[in-house]
Amino acid sequence: MNEIQLCLSEMRTFFLSGTTQDVTWRKKQLITLRQSISQYETTILKALYADLGKSDFEGFATELGIVYAEIDHHLKHLDSWTKKHRVRSTILTFPSSAFTIAQPLGIVLIMSPWNYPFQLTLAPLVAAIAAGNCVILKPSRYSEHTSQVIEEMLAKAFLSNYIATFQGGSAMNTELLSHRFDHIFFTGSPNVGKIVMESAAKHLTPVTLELGGKSPVIIDAGINVKLAAKRIAWGKFINAGQTCVAPDYVLVKRELLETFVEELKKSIQVMYGTNPLNNSDYPKIINQKHFDRLLELLTCGTLAYGGQLDPKALKIAPTIITEPNMDSNLMIDEIFGPILPIIPYDNFEQTIEFIQNREHPLALYLFSDNKTHQDLVVNNLIYGGGCINDTIVHLVNVHMAFGGVGSSGMGSYHAKAGFNTFSHTKSILKKGNWLDVPLRYPPFKGKFSLLKRLMK
Ligand code: NAD
Repeated sequence: MNEIQLCLSEMRTFFLSGTTQDVTWRKKQLITLRQSISQYETTILKALYADLGKSDFEGFATELGIVYAEIDHHLKHLDSWTKKHRVRSTILTFPSSAFTIAQPLGIVLIMSPWNYPFQLTLAPLVAAIAAGNCVILKPSRYSEHTSQVIEEMLAKAFLSNYIATFQGGSAMNTELLSHRFDHIFFTGSPNVGKIVMESAAKHLTPVTLELGGKSPVIIDAGINVKLAAKRIAWGKFINAGQTCVAPDYVLVKRELLETFVEELKKSIQVMYGTNPLNNSDYPKIINQKHFDRLLELLTCGTLAYGGQLDPKALKIAPTIITEPNMDSNLMIDEIFGPILPIIPYDNFEQTIEFIQNREHPLALYLFSDNKTHQDLVVNNLIYGGGCINDTIVHLVNVHMAFGGVGSSGMGSYHAKAGFNTFSHTKSILKKGNWLDVPLRYPPFKGKFSLLKRLMK
């Protein structure tokens, strides 16, 4: 038996013992997790700096803070989410009562990427614990410092028959995916998402796929360009653009193009200074492979601003590209770096058509005060979620689910959506014995008209 098989077998025994069914026990595990994170806070922030050059502020705001909020929200609502929920009965099942109850799925696999290596591993873990599952985690090899801290922290806090971490690259992923899980929660690229889904299909294992893609921004006429530029620059260049919901490209009303580019430049300067490469608040690119990939994208249009490089520190300054080559990788692949192409349009309808002709985005950001345009975008375009007049912050609202649609993903999490993802909602009908209505039993002679009256 290899290490993974042994771990799975011990987890199965533990899960079947019923310990995780106890909601009070689950809450204790969430509290333990919160305390562990708190004890490891400095180490986690240092690891995030080592992996991605994230400042403590950014590390706390976009990683630790989000996980704390998820834990607190789950602790607050877990009693109500795990209660039996009575539902109405129907005349056809008379006499009966009915209820639904959320049940853990069993052993779940959580695979996470490197860009928010702490948050994207721990936030699904919180939901999986709350729902009563045993968990195997596979953090990304690229964010090695954070992945190691996660393993160490969790191994100290929990037994490996409950929560276990496996490290490695795609070989380890392939090995893990060959085993049977009760659910797989994968965050990463659409291409690897296809591999995950194919492997899961062999065991009929359900999957949640949190994927990516190109998330557009639309800038409508008549808006406050300065404010929009500031909010777009913030959303784009946080984590040096290595954010799944980062604005990927901007469609701007032609008459605003020049002003918008100017305001964007000013915002970048205010946030990161005139030499962002020397700014310790400005993150680095995760590794050489992604740095080289992004270098190629710098040549796919007119360099309007930025473009400075520090190959040693793997830093690329916030960069604006105008007149992007629409057939280049810049406009075909997800950019996932600090490069922002800007494309002018003449009629608002063109933006709708442009987006409809591409894969469903994970996020979409509309800057508009025009109610008709707001409704058009919200109602007519299919995308995971987004903001009107801001970027990224829809993720911060703990009351909303987060997930993609089509090639940007399937399923969702955050708050109750996470709990639901890692639970099975079981429907139970409890029949009364004091009466047994004879209608359903053969022989059916003379009963058809009554059946029609009841069911039509
Ligand atoms: P990736 O798909 O390359 O890797 C994700 C995970 O899959 C990693 O753990 C990696 O080791 C593993 N992997 C890579 N190749 C594999 C293979 N052939 N077989 C099995 N496993 C394999 O993604 P990434 O580069 O780590 O992250 C970037 C992508 O993730 C972007 O597309 C981004 O939009 C997306 N993303 C999505 C979200 C979201 O919440 N929707 C969040 C962050 C990132």
